[in-house]
Amino acid sequence: MKKEYAKMDVGLLHLVNKKVVLELINHNGQISRSDLAKKSGLTPPSITRIVDELIHVDGLVESLGVGNSSGGRPPVIVKFKNDNNYIVGIDLGATYIRGCMVDLNANFISEIQVPTELNKGFSSIVDKVIKVIKKLQKRKEPNSKIWGIGIGVAGLVNSETGIIESSPDFGWSHVDLRKELEKHLDLPFFYDNSTRLMALGELKMGAKENQKNFAVINIGYGIASGLVVEGNLLKGYSGFAGELGHISVDTDSEVQCKCGMYGCLEALASGHRIASLGREALLNNTSEILKELSANNESLITAELVAEAVSKGDVTSIKIYDEVAEYLCKGIGTIANLLNPETVYVGGGISLNGRLLFDLIEKKKDKYLLDANTKVKILPCTHGDQATSIGAVSLVLEKILNLELTGV
Ligand SMILES: [Zn+2]
Repeated sequence: MKKEYAKMDVGLLHLVNKKVVLELINHNGQISRSDLAKKSGLTPPSITRIVDELIHVDGLVESLGVGNSSGGRPPVIVKFKNDNNYIVGIDLGATYIRGCMVDLNANFISEIQVPTELNKGFSSIVDKVIKVIKKLQKRKEPNSKIWGIGIGVAGLVNSETGIIESSPDFGWSHVDLRKELEKHLDLPFFYDNSTRLMALGELKMGAKENQKNFAVINIGYGIASGLVVEGNLLKGYSGFAGELGHISVDTDSEVQCKCGMYGCLEALASGHRIASLGREALLNNTSEILKELSANNESLITAELVAEAVSKGDVTSIKIYDEVAEYLCKGIGTIANLLNPETVYVGGGISLNGRLLFDLIEKKKDKYLLDANTKVKILPCTHGDQATSIGAVSLVLEKILNLELTGV
């Protein structure tokens, strides 16, 4: 009995050490075997055994040969084997399905974007996701491997089962997307909420290293946030943390949110709201520029078109964005005063119209911030319109680094 325990401990220790080595390679990009030993505290023979296994068994790592020596034995450099190992990230959004394929260092190999066409229903959306993945698969090097597919979906997603419990944007409840996709693709799938993945992507693959306290606000069709506190992604008791869109920012508002309440941030400041205020302006004949840009067709009015009208100096559209930015600042103020983050990243479709929204927020935000929080930086997400798909990639990379996808 005792002997068995000892055996198990050795195996476990090996896994723990292997994870440490993989993390160091991931963090450093390229690193010598001797530096791996120094930084991990492991002996050179242990490093040799682990690195050899990562090269010959897992195929995750390659040796770059001998580096420059500063006296003594020249170092042997190792790095991720990028041309054979890929990850696919999918952003399943209400407007677009975006997919990207990256190598283990998150270098883009290929990306695809197709319109979601919500109105065509669940099976058409599933077909589109399958087509996007298959297209990306075709673009990889022959004999190379896709380790997994990360998928971000707006709504409440059970990351363990892959079941989408509810997604108001799609009108889905209790949808087993994993089951449908696995019928057609023999690859490991991982799922999470799209905004939480934006925060994960910022945490693992963002521009700034080692940031431990920040928020991501996703403003698109709806509004949600992903919160990182002390380096951990906040999930909450039942996975619902971060529903910033449903805090009340105007208790007197008569605008009803799709959650049923009145005056929610999402009801007053989402892309949906901007478009609906634009349509109202067209019907009330208060904007010549919107009339011209939309050819007087209310169905063509989108938040993007209202932003275009702003750039042409349209007073009505400027007022719309001004009002929306005011509400957003209330939301940002709530997060910042509650969590004292270093940065609030703003992403999603509405954030992609140049500096417009950021300049307005910068002008208004201090009204809603305690002095101690006025230093909070408001920045666009590092990966722009790929923020969710890169987050989905990070989800898979985490599994690789955690040795959940290797045979050992
Ligand atoms: Zn609401």
